[in-house]
Amino acid sequence: MASNEKNVLVVNCGSSSVKFAIVNPVDGKVSVSGIAEALNLEDARISWAFDGQDKTEQSLGAGADHAKAIDFVVETILAGHKELLDSLVAVGHRIVSGGDLYSQPTLVDDSVEAGIEKCIPFAPLHNPAHLQGIRAGRKVFPNIPHVCVFDTAFHQTMPEHAFRFAIPEKYYTENRIRRYGAHGTSHYYVAGEACRELGGDPDNFNVITCHLGNGASISAVKNGKCIDTSMGLTPLDGLMMGTRSGSIDPSVIFFLCDNLGLTAQEVCKILNKESGLLGISCKTSDFRGITEGKLAGDEKCTLAFDMFCYRLAKFIGSYFVPLGHVDAIVFTGGIGENSFRMRERVLELLAEPFGIRIDREKNEKALVYKGGRGLISTPESSCKVTVIPTNEELIIARLAGEFAK
Ligand code: ADP
Repeated sequence: MASNEKNVLVVNCGSSSVKFAIVNPVDGKVSVSGIAEALNLEDARISWAFDGQDKTEQSLGAGADHAKAIDFVVETILAGHKELLDSLVAVGHRIVSGGDLYSQPTLVDDSVEAGIEKCIPFAPLHNPAHLQGIRAGRKVFPNIPHVCVFDTAFHQTMPEHAFRFAIPEKYYTENRIRRYGAHGTSHYYVAGEACRELGGDPDNFNVITCHLGNGASISAVKNGKCIDTSMGLTPLDGLMMGTRSGSIDPSVIFFLCDNLGLTAQEVCKILNKESGLLGISCKTSDFRGITEGKLAGDEKCTLAFDMFCYRLAKFIGSYFVPLGHVDAIVFTGGIGENSFRMRERVLELLAEPFGIRIDREKNEKALVYKGGRGLISTPESSCKVTVIPTNEELIIARLAGEFAK
């Protein structure tokens, strides 16, 4: 490592996990990355790898929490790597919900911690974990800037007619119930990359970004600004996902409560953890498993695959309305980057109504995006379609790195 190299520690705290990586914000090089899992449980553990080499795994001790995991990263994993510790110029914290309080990456201070706390109702599992990560991080790195990068921030440019729900006004004004969106860092990154790679004019470039992983969302991005997105108050809305239902008739909830006697909490669990690809296939939430099942003739997996593609195509189609014209559609996330079968089906559904034409051979080969290799549409297509691997760590490192002195 060059002695003047500057790196950012990227921290992503989930409800029972901490993902961490030391990333060079200029070239994206990852010096070390890892994950602490099963936090607060009997088998709390941590694994890590330097420079993408072999993984080391170790127990953190029963009941270890987020703070213990962060201490371990600094005191044990980085103990013999003073040059890496000295290279850190900032810590970037991924934050799931900043509600409508934050529309930019924000330097952490006590008032920002209070703001994240205020947004706990919108991300009850994640925001408390983020706060633990921030507090532990500020203790071990008191002298470098800590920067929050909010998943919701990119969506704060949505116009009111896109972010309001058609419910009585007081629930918006008094309780801040509205569409906030999620995966904003990923949508922001791939929208920018698409414009750059396709040689677009940043002030006149309309793109539909599809982030398709275990969670899935889609955004309409006009000249670099989000004008609509599919996730709502929480990440349950919108597309069909691994275990989440996506949009459904809200009456399904009343039906389950009133006629089957389920509690609101039970319905919440069903819609978040037992629905989506898992609920339809009765087998798996994993898109690879769904695809294998479909290829083997499993009818339920075939239905799950068909529903996923149909609903995604309908969403993409609907985003032609806010955008007017569409320069590009981008696929990203584990499913978006890897499933050429899903992309083929979705684009077939969009061919007749929107004049989108897919290059089948390029689509099958588009696994890595390099110098335009991710383009999967033909020259005749009404808009370009590309595959761009997302890189949330890199963008968090870049945004946090800008705060370094
Ligand atoms: P997360 O939202 O947890 O970050 P990822 O972006 O890693 O998720 O995406 C995970 C999803 O990507 C899983 O459903 C997985 O099956 C799917 N996936 C990964 N590789 C492939 C592949 N080659 N073909 C189809 N689906 C894939």
